[in-house]
Amino acid sequence: MQKPSVQLEGKRVLAVGLARTGVATALFCAARGARVTATDEQPEAKVLQAAATLRAAGVALELGGHRRETFLTQDLIIPSPGVPLDQPDLAAARANEITVWSEIELAWRLLLGRLVVITGSNGKTTTTALLGHILQTAGLPVAVGGNIGTPLISLVDSSSDAGITVAEASSFQLEAIEEFRPDVAMLLNLTPDHLDRHGSMESYRRAKARIFENQRDDDAAVCNADDPGAVAMAPTEPHLYWFSRKSPVARGAYVRGQEIILRASGKESLLMPRGDIPLRGDHNIENVLAAAVAAQLVGADAQAIAAGVRSFPGVAHRLQFVAAIDGVEFYNDSKATNVDATLKALDAFPGNLLVILGGKDKGSDYSALREPLRRRARRVYLIGAAASKIAKEIAGIVAVEHAVTLENAVASAFGCARPGDTVLLAPACASFDQFDNYEHRGSVFAALVHQIAATRTSEPAKSKVPEKISGGN
Ligand code: ADP
Repeated sequence: MQKPSVQLEGKRVLAVGLARTGVATALFCAARGARVTATDEQPEAKVLQAAATLRAAGVALELGGHRRETFLTQDLIIPSPGVPLDQPDLAAARANEITVWSEIELAWRLLLGRLVVITGSNGKTTTTALLGHILQTAGLPVAVGGNIGTPLISLVDSSSDAGITVAEASSFQLEAIEEFRPDVAMLLNLTPDHLDRHGSMESYRRAKARIFENQRDDDAAVCNADDPGAVAMAPTEPHLYWFSRKSPVARGAYVRGQEIILRASGKESLLMPRGDIPLRGDHNIENVLAAAVAAQLVGADAQAIAAGVRSFPGVAHRLQFVAAIDGVEFYNDSKATNVDATLKALDAFPGNLLVILGGKDKGSDYSALREPLRRRARRVYLIGAAASKIAKEIAGIVAVEHAVTLENAVASAFGCARPGDTVLLAPACASFDQFDNYEHRGSVFAALVHQIAATRTSEPAKSKVPEKISGGN
């Protein structure tokens, strides 16, 4: 693919935000001869290590706030994914026609080989990791990055013409692209998330839709035929592939009875029985279908794809089994930070759930949880800042306990659990009110469960007496 050229040598480049992506971007541009400044609202004391690394590489620093003047005198500004485009200094720079690109735009221009990009409201990390694992299993030269961990820009130097890069992209990163054009672009689903930042579903949708914006007929777009939000945003033929759990597709992958079917150039092949997918939940079938289509598009055969799916270990904090204690299972879905992910988690179990909900609200509507909770949950434990909002929106459906902290929630849930029950952490909220991030929340949950397990193995296991719960079923 012919890409627009980029000249960094001697250019004034500003990296905004000193988290992982910002630091990687600043270092990359400095190494390519740009005159780089990095700025962050946080004072130096809060970003000590990043500041030291950047200074050593000759990057100028502006910490503890931004100077408008600095923004207005750049050739290129690269905001971190966490920095909104309507941040006043960025908005002023754009109004002055200064180029503002997300890091994925710069990285794409310089990356060699093919690029597969995955976006959607939920399932990006799982599908990205799964696709990386499948391609590795198939023996193809693959690197995985983007929002999932290693910033895309850090993969540029090691990329090669024969290589395949698989990257997860968030709506924030897609919001600030210009000519970014993945060889394979995948949209998994579109449900409300981050409305606190995007302001409306429409602007969130617009940001996600940009993944297809620059594609041409010789690229491929992969879309979820079962998701109305994704269908509405699908580009037109001829480069469109679909995946569906519910009905056959003309080109792509779908479920027929108990089988996963791949369909390309009018030819169908049996991929594997759906029962062989090691991950729980229908949403993970969708992730497998999506990854299978992309894997086939970049050259993996059906046998290698099936082998990769079967051996995929899953990703931590995504509906992850933690332990079984006295017949009670514990699942950590701390990454269920929005209502849709929690719905999918509830759906992945037949019933008898004790569900831990709550955290930092993102402007969500929790009433969508009412019916699934009625069907599947015996009791809900509320934690964190969103507790009273959630309590109001699910009132009258299921017994609710205001546990306040995760510690209380786990202890109470285990206290009332019966053999055959499942304690599920799928909070539908962000974690920042009580934890550093969702990984921290998930790790604390797992540690609390392991603590209980340790006390149970050092004592003779007491059989749990079924307990009557009032106020719900
Ligand atoms: P993302 O990177 O988009 O946040 P993850 O793979 O990290 O996606 O999963 C986030 C949450 O969404 C987890 O709770 C996970 O169990 C759930 N999830 C995973 N795949 C899907 C899907 N296809 N649709 C809906 N929810 C999903």
